[in-house]
Amino acid sequence: MGRKNFTRIIEENKAMTIEDFKQKALELDKNDKLAPFRNQFEIGEEIYLDGNSLGRLPKKTIEISTNLIKNQWGKRLIRSWNEHWIELPNKVAAKIAQIVGARPDEIFVGDSTSINFYKLAFAAISLQNNRSKIITDSLNFPTDIYVLQGLIEQHFKNHSLSIIKSNDEISISDEAIEQALDENTALLTLSHVVFKSAYQYNMQKINNLAHKKGALVLWDLSHSAGAVPVNLNESDADMAVGCTYKYLNGGPGAPAFLYVRRDLQEKLLNPIWAWFSHEKPFDFTLDYKAINDVQRFATGTPSVLSLAAIEAGLDIMLEAGMEGLREKSIAQSNFLIEIVINLLEPLGFTIASPLNVNERGSHISIQHQEGYKINRAMIEPIDGSPSIIPDFRPPNNIRLGIAPLYNTFEEIFQTIVRIKKIVETKEFERFGDEKLTVV
Ligand SMILES: *Cc1c(COP(=O)(O)O)cnc(C)c1O
Repeated sequence: MGRKNFTRIIEENKAMTIEDFKQKALELDKNDKLAPFRNQFEIGEEIYLDGNSLGRLPKKTIEISTNLIKNQWGKRLIRSWNEHWIELPNKVAAKIAQIVGARPDEIFVGDSTSINFYKLAFAAISLQNNRSKIITDSLNFPTDIYVLQGLIEQHFKNHSLSIIKSNDEISISDEAIEQALDENTALLTLSHVVFKSAYQYNMQKINNLAHKKGALVLWDLSHSAGAVPVNLNESDADMAVGCTYKYLNGGPGAPAFLYVRRDLQEKLLNPIWAWFSHEKPFDFTLDYKAINDVQRFATGTPSVLSLAAIEAGLDIMLEAGMEGLREKSIAQSNFLIEIVINLLEPLGFTIASPLNVNERGSHISIQHQEGYKINRAMIEPIDGSPSIIPDFRPPNNIRLGIAPLYNTFEEIFQTIVRIKKIVETKEFERFGDEKLTVV
């Protein structure tokens, strides 16, 4: 669905009043089969459209974490390692594997996304040591680019980083990627869904283009896992990393995951040689020997408290099913775009996400020259209306994250009407340009 289709819908809806949009939202909520899942989360007074940065707290997580702290840690102490904890990373990995279309023995859970990215990028560049080009794009999340810059500065001094630019700051064509790839390319690394515009690459197509030139591909799934269907095996993916605290609702700073295709596992070596990736960590021998499976990407002791907190969110997601969630996310984002075009474009907003749903993840960026202040006014209302929490990405993107597990159509409707009011009444003018530490 591109701009033309939206234009047609809007032509047909010219007579749609705000009240009509509200009725439409209520109707869509009434027919939403996934609506009951909202009850499985802690829900406050606010409208939360930031599930793409920090997902909501599943109620069950409170129970699991409390039990773990009080009983497993408090009473059973170190005995809990054998009773519960040593198997926990694999149990969580198997659930993530289902969500990203991989085999359980292809996923490692632990460390942060940045660290996992470092380990895999290092390993891939080392494996492809007769090639010196690394490719990424200007829409990628900065941490990935910083890691690559650091690797080149510190370890791979003869390598070069090629950053493909976006013409519109929204998307990058497959052709641009194809042109950048050559026989000297060691590694291509991209965010599958990019963090600002939500542009979504065609994973399979990009993998095929890279493989034709003999390049390896490392995907960052932080804005994809739990947001869009991902099928790493079917798409012939080599490597991936991703976050669990965004759409997977794992909690602040929850352990990340990484994926390595089975036949690549033996060839890639973790640059951090630590005991949890040793063949026999509890033999305490003095010589390092990496284990021969995905566990070779482990480092130290698993973060048990935060690992345990991931599981409930994954269970909810598996129960709801990614296909149904995607269907709802598409319906909600299309509804959002439709109201934005009707009510906000006349006020100077533009949509900075792809209108074609096949090229889009589960958040929508809208831009306004007063974007930062409008975002602050949404969060801190003075007229008694509920606080609405989006997030802001410079220079002027307000990101509206849609998490179909708990967001309603009515929340989307209310958000757009509230933004309209903030701009019309110039309520945003009470804020200055100084930014909060976490925007
Ligand atoms: C959120 C995000 C990260 C976060 O990395 P951390 O190491 O968890 O801080 C990395 N990459 C992308 C694409 C992200 O969206």
